[in-house]
Amino acid sequence: MGRTGARVALGDPVARLKGVGPRRAADLARLGVERAEDLLTLWPRRHEDRSRVVPIGLLGVGMTATVVARVADVRTRYVPGRDVLATVTVTDGTGVLDVVFFHARYLARHFVPGRLYVFSGRVDRRGHRLSMAHPAWEATDEEGTAAGIVPVYPLAGELTQRWLRALMAQVVPDLAAQTADPLPERIRRELGLPPRPWALTTLHFPRSLEDKERARARLVFDEVLVLALGVQWLRLREGGQGGPGVAQRPDGPTVRRLLAQLPFALTPGQQRAWEEIARDLARPVPMARLLQGDVGSGKTVLAALACCAAVDAGGQAAVMAPTELLADQQAMVLRRWLEPLGVTVARLTGHEGPRSPVRRAVAEGRAAVVVGTQALIQEGVRFADLTLVVVDEQHRFGVRQRSRLTSKGRYPDLLVMTATPIPRTLALTIYGDLERSVIDDLPPGRRPVKTVRVDQRHRRVAYEAVRAAVRRGEQAYVVCPFVEESEGRSARNAVGLYEGMRRVGGWRLGLLHGRMPPAEKEAVMERFRQGAIDVLVATSIVEVGVDVPNATVMVIEDADRFGLAQLHQLRGRVGRGTVPGTCYLVADPGSEETEARLKALVELHDGLALAEADLRIRGPGEVLGLRQHGLAGFQLADPIRDLDALQRARALAREILAGDPELRDPEHAELRRLVLDALGQAVPASILH
Ligand code: ADP
Ligand code: MG
Repeated sequence: MGRTGARVALGDPVARLKGVGPRRAADLARLGVERAEDLLTLWPRRHEDRSRVVPIGLLGVGMTATVVARVADVRTRYVPGRDVLATVTVTDGTGVLDVVFFHARYLARHFVPGRLYVFSGRVDRRGHRLSMAHPAWEATDEEGTAAGIVPVYPLAGELTQRWLRALMAQVVPDLAAQTADPLPERIRRELGLPPRPWALTTLHFPRSLEDKERARARLVFDEVLVLALGVQWLRLREGGQGGPGVAQRPDGPTVRRLLAQLPFALTPGQQRAWEEIARDLARPVPMARLLQGDVGSGKTVLAALACCAAVDAGGQAAVMAPTELLADQQAMVLRRWLEPLGVTVARLTGHEGPRSPVRRAVAEGRAAVVVGTQALIQEGVRFADLTLVVVDEQHRFGVRQRSRLTSKGRYPDLLVMTATPIPRTLALTIYGDLERSVIDDLPPGRRPVKTVRVDQRHRRVAYEAVRAAVRRGEQAYVVCPFVEESEGRSARNAVGLYEGMRRVGGWRLGLLHGRMPPAEKEAVMERFRQGAIDVLVATSIVEVGVDVPNATVMVIEDADRFGLAQLHQLRGRVGRGTVPGTCYLVADPGSEETEARLKALVELHDGLALAEADLRIRGPGEVLGLRQHGLAGFQLADPIRDLDALQRARALAREILAGDPELRDPEHAELRRLVLDALGQAVPASILH
């Protein structure tokens, strides 16, 4: 490789590199690349095996192939039932191919005649022409001549694939050679992993797909090890382990009175989970427990019992919910159960000033149980004696937020509740060292929600069911993906549908979405709870926790816009009383994947089985909602596919910290740097020096 002048150093600003001017430096900065070393971890989105590029003239029906060709012509036409059909005719000089897309109202404009694109898909025949329906595609700026396996990078601004790839080829090997290996040689060999510098270069420019996998495995391991170290380090520091905890009183008088006063008996699953929680609570060691249970399995009762145990021991409990609406709901339920027992429940909205009566009641210990959203972890919210923290619907919270809340007490017990079925090993790794309890049954008489798939054309069926329910004195939800009509979205929106249904008349309607002021939301919800609203038109804001037993029918518009887990959560809102629930999934006929997902919903009713189906259909990526997790860490690792690596990394992290709790050993210098880098803001100042 021809190098002119000084060699590039890891810490150099990218603008210092040959060929990078201020404009490109700015574009690179948008990709998070500021220093030369950042280029190393600008991971390719994927690789393209250019050895599979086939000239159009050699394509045959039934082949799966990659084609690099220029757009000759773009036509759109409206087809009933299929919306807009776009035909993009492309050519590479050896032949002509029609690339077709359905539902392509907005897609068509991405194809510019004269520009070059890559298409990958199955070859078919339409009329006398070869065609490809819904191939994977992207714009490119290289003729199909590049050979071998080439990286495809994310782009920004005016960067082109060709330019970025050339820059990478020029600097990556050099930069990679300068990096230190965070794994001590001995451990690296034990794990059978290649050296990191090799892996860095190879992930960008692999010679073979096998090499690419080996490189990926190595870099994934580093990523999960850094995460595991970070999580364990934080926990060591911020109290969970080792510190003296509070011995709660899970058989105290308030707990016993609550149990006696509940209108139902605990299910066997609830009973078992409560015993596990109670055992932890009683010990003077901080609890860290994850409570998993499908939607409607009755996790809230256990939270209430735990709160009583804390109150009986003389301390305060905080219950944190992901949304205002849920916090309201939680506060309402807890008040109904606990206030008759003389336990004061406060609701913190985050709108209170520091001198507000509620905040003072919390600070002075007059409020025994405090319910709220993230507002609870604001600076300045003080508790008199916080000894228990309950986090509801955990998947919306990141590790960092959680540790900020626990840091408000001395060593409070922690109970995390979620309806997301997370495999045990994964939970352990990403949440640190939580123990786990599972509620594996549902309250008696709960029948699965009957789920019906309806085409747009037959949406009347769904609305007739809503009418019938209203006539019987029951209530219904209509859920839309968006609040208002907006550019580029053909999907139904809550405001529009609400207006339309109002014009039709014959039902008492309510509208609920996230852009409404909190007081208004609460008022609507209250009227729905009291039965003054028959049909609630809403966004997915009703997804979690909303509990109105008289609601029996739900219509989900454009159901294909929601994820499987989300749909399962949504339909869990109906059939919570004695009348079984029905859920209508309204959607246009969609891709194979969409249809498979909707079908899984119709057939499966257990959250765990659905999560597994989702994994099979969509692949591991988004399934567990980990991306929104606040664990910015995962760039390469796939929490399902790389479960093994997660497990090994967790064990290794524990071993490393046991021998070197501060990572001060020179052997661990690079690891320490990576961990501090990953933790960023989350690191308390005290461990930085
Ligand atoms: P989730 O686990 O989804 O948070 P909830 O705690 O909201 O579920 O409970 C759902 C509904 O079931 C609530 O109305 C609750 O009062 C009720 N419930 C909880 N446990 C039982 C039980 N053992 N028997 C009957 N109903 C129950
Ligand atoms: Mg709940």
